[in-house]
Amino acid sequence: MIQFNLIDEKWIPVRRHDGSEIMITPWEVTKEFADNPIVSLNAPRPDFNGALIQFLIGLVQTVAAPTNRIEWRQKLNDPPEPEELKAAFMTVHDAFELGGDGPRFMQDLEKLETEDRHIDGLLIDMPGNSTREKNTDHFIKRNTVTCICFSCCATALFAMQTNAPAGGAGFRTSLRGGGPLSTLIVGDERHNTLWHLLWLNVLQGDQFLRSCGNALRTAKADSFPWLAGTRTSESKTGTDTTPEDAYPTMVFWGMPRRIRLNLDSLNAGMCEICGKQSNLLVNRYQDKNYGMNFAGAWLHPLSPYSYNKDGLPLPIHAQPGGVSYRHWLGFVQEDSSNQRVPAFIVHEFRESRQQRDWQFRLWAFGYDMDNMKARCWYEAKMPLLQIETSLREDYKHYVSSMITAAVEISANVKSAVKKAWFRHPGDKNGDISFLDNIFWQNTESAFYEALHGLKTALESSNDAMENRKEWLDSLCREALKIFDFQAWEGPIEDADPKRVVIARSELAKFNRSNKIKALLDLPVEQKPNDTAAKKAHRRKTLR
Ligand SMILES: [Zn+2]
Repeated sequence: MIQFNLIDEKWIPVRRHDGSEIMITPWEVTKEFADNPIVSLNAPRPDFNGALIQFLIGLVQTVAAPTNRIEWRQKLNDPPEPEELKAAFMTVHDAFELGGDGPRFMQDLEKLETEDRHIDGLLIDMPGNSTREKNTDHFIKRNTVTCICFSCCATALFAMQTNAPAGGAGFRTSLRGGGPLSTLIVGDERHNTLWHLLWLNVLQGDQFLRSCGNALRTAKADSFPWLAGTRTSESKTGTDTTPEDAYPTMVFWGMPRRIRLNLDSLNAGMCEICGKQSNLLVNRYQDKNYGMNFAGAWLHPLSPYSYNKDGLPLPIHAQPGGVSYRHWLGFVQEDSSNQRVPAFIVHEFRESRQQRDWQFRLWAFGYDMDNMKARCWYEAKMPLLQIETSLREDYKHYVSSMITAAVEISANVKSAVKKAWFRHPGDKNGDISFLDNIFWQNTESAFYEALHGLKTALESSNDAMENRKEWLDSLCREALKIFDFQAWEGPIEDADPKRVVIARSELAKFNRSNKIKALLDLPVEQKPNDTAAKKAHRRKTLR
């Protein structure tokens, strides 16, 4: 029986500093670190890169985590030699065998007596016709992938178990639900190797062990569930898997789907995902429902969460419209009004790791799932600014109000465009949510400039009024720009130039309304017909 050990084999596609593209074993990630370091993953699909980085972080967190803060800091720029990493990874060697007759990585221990399925079922599928995001062309239409190499197969398997969407009766979702969102810390140009990306997202060992799971359950199968028989979840005979039932590292190695790769009938040719030639292409697998059902208060260190009214954490997922700076609250800072908290790794970075001269960013990525199918793959990077503790509350308040003002103005743009397009805008349910995307994208760089300006102003004891005025100006400018571009694109039978002119002037007025100025703590205009003035007038006449 063919064997393929994920610790021994060169199966991870990466790019070096000099641009060369190679395949490495996981422990070679620090090879030639001083002269020609590995700078990025290089998988053929963006979701594969998102899976591979979590595989590497999970592996290092499981067997090579730093024991204290000093070790973490030392190793950030002076990583362990490949041989040292290899020695650590070899301690779990037996859990990382993809083939063979013994336990297989992320597969059911026993053969499944079910029908063979085409290998493309292992891929989280994307609609082939979407052009909304530039990344969607990397995704392949169903029925066009018939055989894949071991590298792509291992990645697809890990991606499926890590992201498992709903899949019909008894097909369980991942430990973070179907298609979770992850947020990772990304270094600046002085910290831009793959090692940096990896190490920045690994927690101190004891901290991690306290974060979630049962540290007393130290059997190997409590970390790597495929080393034992599957904890199945049939409604009568099965069982749920809660954090009490597993060692903390299980968060990286959950196995909601029961899968067995068919390695008996491999063929030779070209991998239909990465295009590489191989004599070992996988074309079939088997699966079965009622795999591990993750229940209870699981917390994954790389994902933001919201809390429901019972205090249970719910992992945040990407939504239509993408990921943008409007998610800054919740991803980077706590969003107390919506009970959202950033990922544990972000919290740790902000509270104890970040240094003044670091210009690091947050990389958020995930699928936008429509139940069983992925509509889209989203990713975005946003800056992580270091703010003095004493200024943090003010900073958070202003950033939050800047985002709220943008939400208001974005809504104004949509209703103005509807008014321009339709005689009866209220009756029409045309989907104009794409305008949101345009608005958030077009105001993004201005937002980050404003953030920097705000930080500088607060640090020099300035009230940052000018920054907020500038922010409002740029929002208003962009709103009119989008309106001018879209206003004449409505249905021809409803067209009316007069209505467009009125909608435009209303938009300009609403965007500078007292409501929005008050949101931004800008001076509001007192008009004689204001409620306060009316009351004063009434008091006078009553007297
Ligand atoms: Zn391949």
